[in-house]
Amino acid sequence: MRSITLPDGRTVPALGLGTWYMGESAGAHDGEVRALQTGIDLGMTLIDTAEMYADGGAEEVVCDAVRGRRDQVFIVSKVLPYKASRKGTIAACEDSLRRLGTDHIDLYLLHWPGSHPLAETVAAFEALQADGKIGGYGVSNFDVAEMIAWEKVAGAGACQTDQVLYNLSRRGIEWDLLPWARERKMPIMAYSPLEQGRLADRTLRSIAEKHGATAMQVALSWVLRNPSVIAIPKASNPVHVQANRAALDLGLDAEDLRVLDDSFPPPRRKQALDVL
Ligand code: NAP
Repeated sequence: MRSITLPDGRTVPALGLGTWYMGESAGAHDGEVRALQTGIDLGMTLIDTAEMYADGGAEEVVCDAVRGRRDQVFIVSKVLPYKASRKGTIAACEDSLRRLGTDHIDLYLLHWPGSHPLAETVAAFEALQADGKIGGYGVSNFDVAEMIAWEKVAGAGACQTDQVLYNLSRRGIEWDLLPWARERKMPIMAYSPLEQGRLADRTLRSIAEKHGATAMQVALSWVLRNPSVIAIPKASNPVHVQANRAALDLGLDAEDLRVLDDSFPPPRRKQALDVL
């Protein structure tokens, strides 16, 4: 598994596992646990979750998936912005720790910019880190201007990642956020790298055919072509998990990338940050 280094020196796999929409039905629980375990077995040992997903239900699925192998897994979770005051962040983290059945979250993110002063959220993150309850912290859905404001409060190097929407049909961050992060050696974590399963045009299908792969694998391989991007596709179906792992080794060539650029053009000007 290819790894990526965070600003604090820790390494994480370039390909992880998403959990949005997991934990919503008791009937799906065992299958979701198995899907995550399949991913861990294949080296996709970064699991992204959030208190928001199924109102904590996704964190409970993660708890069951990592039981007995917590030390092999890097858990990312997120605090909801409306809770992100100093006290609220600490309480939210403790609730997440309880649902996850662990004593620490490896990376804790502010889910999107909210109305609590950033200084309060940062102070809470620092207190949680000092207590060993989180290994590091970062943000999600922050555009460049928000990152600059964050950096003024938290200082340079304190943010381990910005988790944002990035896939073939959502390339706006290539204009400014990706270069900004690259300068700081801060990886971007790409969410919805498969546009929630909706990417399947003719170009993708023809490149897929050439590689004996699927359109989804080509779309994921494209996100993973960038050495400073971590992708966290969600798959409840273990066949999809295996296909996603295989996409890491697909190796798109220069001609594939050119054809994809024609169908999914890179940005030519600043675009507002896409969110889901
Ligand atoms: P996604 O990963 O782009 O797509 C997930 C969908 O694609 C599921 O329906 C899944 O089906 C399907 N799929 C996965 N692998 C496939 C394959 N190889 N072939 C065909 N279909 C495949 O969408 P996402 O869940 O929105 O994003 C990924 C993760 O990013 C989330 O789960 C969450 O952890 C995180 N996220 C964060 C934010 C944020 O605001 N920070 C927002 C959105 C998402 P099955 O489940 O049936 O396998």
